[in-house]
Parts: sequence; C-alpha cells; structure tokens
Amino acid sequence: MLIQLLTIHPAIVAPVFRESILGRANEAGIIDLRVVNIRDHALSKHQQTDDYPYGGGAGLLMKPEPVFAAVRWAAGRGPAGARPPRIILMDPQGRRFDQRLAEELAQEDHLILVCGRYEGFDERIRALATDEISIGDYVLMGGELAALVVVEAVARLIPGVLGDLESSVAESHTSGLLEGPQYTRPVEFEGMRVPEILLSGNHGAIERWRREQALRRTLERRPDLLETADLTPAERALVAE
Ligand code: SAM
Repeated sequence: MLIQLLTIHPAIVAPVFRESILGRANEAGIIDLRVVNIRDHALSKHQQTDDYPYGGGAGLLMKPEPVFAAVRWAAGRGPAGARPPRIILMDPQGRRFDQRLAEELAQEDHLILVCGRYEGFDERIRALATDEISIGDYVLMGGELAALVVVEAVARLIPGVLGDLESSVAESHTSGLLEGPQYTRPVEFEGMRVPEILLSGNHGAIERWRREQALRRTLERRPDLLETADLTPAERALVAE
C-alpha cells in the first residue's frame, strides 16, 4: 500500500515515518509511506499556500490551486495496477475515525491524506476528496497529527507491518470489545500479583479468562460497544444480568 501524506509542514511528519514499527515497515517495503510538500506545488513566486477569506473573518484558508496540484501529482504516482486512490481530507467536520474505518482503509492500494492548516480548506478543495475524516470532536492546529493517527491505525492492519512480537488480533476494538488486563514480569510488584490463571499454563482456561475479562472491562467502561459486539448467546445473557 502507498500512503502519501500531503502537508505544508513535512518536518512534523517525516521523523514518524522513519522510526519504530512504521520506519521498519517502510524501510522493508511492506508499506510505502511518503510525505508530499504541498508548497512544492504552489506556482506563485512566494509559494503561497494560504490566503484571506472572502467576506472577511479571522484567519487564513488553504488555497485551492496548490492542493489540487499536489493531489493530482500524488494520484498519478499510485502503484502499478492499483485501484484509484482514496483522497482523504483531514477535517474536524468529517466522518469520525474508528477501527471499522481503519479496517476499511487497510483494504485499499493507495491513500492520499491531505492535511489542512490555518482556518482550514477553501470549500472548493472538498470537491477533490473521496472522504473527509475527523479523529474526534475537538479542533487541532493542523491535520498532521490527525493524519498520523490514521496512518498508524491503518498500517498496523497491513500484513507484515507488525512483527511476531506485536499483534493486532486481540486488541481493544478489533474484536468489538476492549482488551482485558495484561501483565508482564515480575509476578509480584508492590504487593500486586499476576492472576494465578495466567501462570497456570492452561491455554484453554487462559483464553476463557481473557474473554471474560474483556467482557467485564467493556461492560464497565464502554457498555455501548456491547450492542454491536459479536457475542455468544451465553455471553449476551451474562452481560444482561
Ligand atoms: N475552521 C475549521 C472548522 O471550524 O471546521 C477548523 C480548521 S483547523 C484549525 C485546521 C486543520 O486542522 C483542519 O483543516 C484539519 O486539517 C485539521 N484538523 C483540526 N482538527 C481536526 C480533527 N479533529 N480531525 C482531523 N483533522 C483536524
């Protein structure tokens, strides 16, 4: 999968694409992460990417010409034989990002994520987009951190991106439930012991315990998730008690 992140601040994003799991997967060619500087596609002498809003008002808006040019340039660089890219504007007015949307995007060949700055996009830029995504009901200064949230959530679902030591299977939200409590060494820390079942070596019993803990935790913290979670009739009866 090719993911191109379009921004006027490449320096915010570039280090994240070089570090840790993303950096390793990028280096190994399992995923192709690229930063495109929108300013390089601004044709004016001063490479201007912002301008004042018509009708007055506070702040500046992203100009359409450089964003259109950068997106068209990026769209023309998809992998050979790839389906057309999803062109995603990062926008607090967009569809709320969640695990289901991450799973949907992980099926694509090519994503283009466009980061706004200033007071946001000139309205005509929306005509370019196949999607608009918000990472939550709050307003950031720019789309870069929001786009990185999407990149991390999507990339970890691409086969081979997570190594053997990491896994996306039992994570919170992947199964529709929150993940239950987890422990590493030591067995006892400041009077708090690892539950005996996890030391038992009985894999069947451990799996049942984990499932039950995931159900309990979801019931305690996010009961709303249980409405759509895939539960057995017995589990449904248990959480209804
Ligand atoms: N004036 C815009 C509004 O009220 O809808 C907000 C603009 S915001 C200050 C600047 C940029 O940050 C946006 O264009 C978008 O790219 C990004 N951004 C801010 N909050 C975001 C969020 N919750 N999710 C995704 N992107 C966000």
